[in-house]
Amino acid sequence: MVLNVKKISKNFGGIQALTDVSFSINEGEILGIIGPNGAGKTTMFNMITSFYTPSSGEITFKDEVISGLKPHKITDKGICRTFQNIRLFPEMTVLDNVLVGTHSRTVSGVLKSVLRTKSQKQEENNIRAKAMDLLETVNLLDQYDDIAKNLSYGQQRRLEIARALASDPKLILLDEPAAGMNERETAELHHLIMKIKEMGITILLIEHDMPLVMKTCDRLVVLNFGKKIAEGDPEEIQKDPEVIKAYLGTEEDDESA
Ligand code: ATP
Repeated sequence: MVLNVKKISKNFGGIQALTDVSFSINEGEILGIIGPNGAGKTTMFNMITSFYTPSSGEITFKDEVISGLKPHKITDKGICRTFQNIRLFPEMTVLDNVLVGTHSRTVSGVLKSVLRTKSQKQEENNIRAKAMDLLETVNLLDQYDDIAKNLSYGQQRRLEIARALASDPKLILLDEPAAGMNERETAELHHLIMKIKEMGITILLIEHDMPLVMKTCDRLVVLNFGKKIAEGDPEEIQKDPEVIKAYLGTEEDDESA
């Protein structure tokens, strides 16, 4: 078990965003969190990455309590994320955006940076090579010198993933990575997520694109009104009556919509 979420609740001045939600993620697994708008999915990501402190409950990562740590400490432990609303540095190049992500892993101190020692130059070369490798992983190598804001929406989302990977995570949290993507980009995204899994990284995925979720995830947790209403493999979840009622809907619903 990599991550263990134990009875997490979050209250925002009267709004109960999460109530006693528990689940765990096994190493190497792709776990999906699904649920209607406002179900508490992003709030859960904000709990895991310590953007917010839980009102109650506890989160452990590799058996160490991480709830309450500063967000940068969470990155140091090996957890990274992407955002529902893309958060790149739009005026910087694609490569520089990835280099920003490596920041927490550089070892050279301030004095070395000022003196630009041989070891620091070597480190810079290694980091650049690693960033270029990551751009190849997300299929953006040809765009390395482009300005980030000029990339297509799908490319920007892939760049955010490369930047997150640059911090050498053990666990990556992807918040609606397929949002705004067309069918071809979504198919590429599926392959990219599988590639990340093959790199030995555990994945937690929030996503509304159900075909993508069902074919990508090993297991799903379903939230509704801040509560966990189901957990299981994609096949079980698709048949779960409570999930169908709350979220997935039925063919009749689609016809009447
Ligand atoms: P979506 O699929 O639309 O992104 P979600 O499942 O991610 O939804 P959350 O964004 O986690 O849902 O929101 C859960 C509830 O908590 C909502 O009622 C939301 O308005 C509320 N909420 C989230 N963040 C805050 C905040 N910072 N202050 C007050 N209420 C908040």
